[in-house]
Amino acid sequence: MIYGAHIGIADGLAESVRELKAIGGDALQIFSKSPQMWAGPPIALEAAVRFRDAVRDEGVRATAVHHGYLINLASPKRATLTRSRRAFLDEIRRAELLEVDGLIFHPGAHLGAGVDQGLATIAESLRGALEAVPEGRVRLLLENAAGQGTALCATPEELQRVLAGVAAPGRLGVTLDTCHLFAQGFDLRTDEGYGGLIDRLASTIGIETVRAFHLNDAKADLGSHLDRHENIGKGEIGDAGFRRLVNDPRWALTPGYLETPLDDGGYARYAEDLNRLRSLEAASAPPPKTDSRRRRARATSATVK
Ligand SMILES: [Zn+2]
Ligand SMILES: [Zn+2]
Repeated sequence: MIYGAHIGIADGLAESVRELKAIGGDALQIFSKSPQMWAGPPIALEAAVRFRDAVRDEGVRATAVHHGYLINLASPKRATLTRSRRAFLDEIRRAELLEVDGLIFHPGAHLGAGVDQGLATIAESLRGALEAVPEGRVRLLLENAAGQGTALCATPEELQRVLAGVAAPGRLGVTLDTCHLFAQGFDLRTDEGYGGLIDRLASTIGIETVRAFHLNDAKADLGSHLDRHENIGKGEIGDAGFRRLVNDPRWALTPGYLETPLDDGGYARYAEDLNRLRSLEAASAPPPKTDSRRRRARATSATVK
């Protein structure tokens, strides 16, 4: 796993890169604008270039933009759907300008129109978006839901139905949020639960379609359908759940972004969470010596900073 976190851009896009490196992260997720607004001010080309340079110079290994929360690509209301599609296109263009690897988004909620119609509407939204940006290089990554309310794509099967409806595997992928998986009922703490998830993924979207993780522990119980993030090892998933994930060679090159709770100490809690994940990795499956030394050194320097 390539560890990283969601970093705010209040101090500037390029500064988010330095803040990520300061906590020992190698994978950066950002919002490209305020997530509570439909539109943001345009990104100045100079700011985008400074960001791209910082990503390259600091050796960040994976990057993603997370879209804004107002967008619902499954909305049965025509006006909201039109607005959502326009805003999503803007998100894609901003992500393209920043040259990130992926745009992570919530597929949508059907709001009572039913699962079939909701999934079909998402697929139609995505087909339109891809057609509008034919040369797009940013991969659009559907994030699994926690199964709250009418939110769609809490299961690999629903994710697969959207992917199949768009039929553009080169431009799409999936981000799995561990808290959402757990809330949906995937018990990452047991061999049976974790193995069951891997089997479900393999028989639906395919393992290779999983392009990123959101690494969040869960405040609520297994199958609660509640989306409540907790710091790593402090929630119901616990060390036992994350140990399987971080030692699974399938994800060795997959970015995992923290979206865990922060406090007054800024990103210090992220540094603790990253250290905890790395310690789980080392504890259960020791990597080659050179690797583990570098990892430890990096983790230590993050704690000091
Ligand atoms: Zn999300
Ligand atoms: Zn969540």
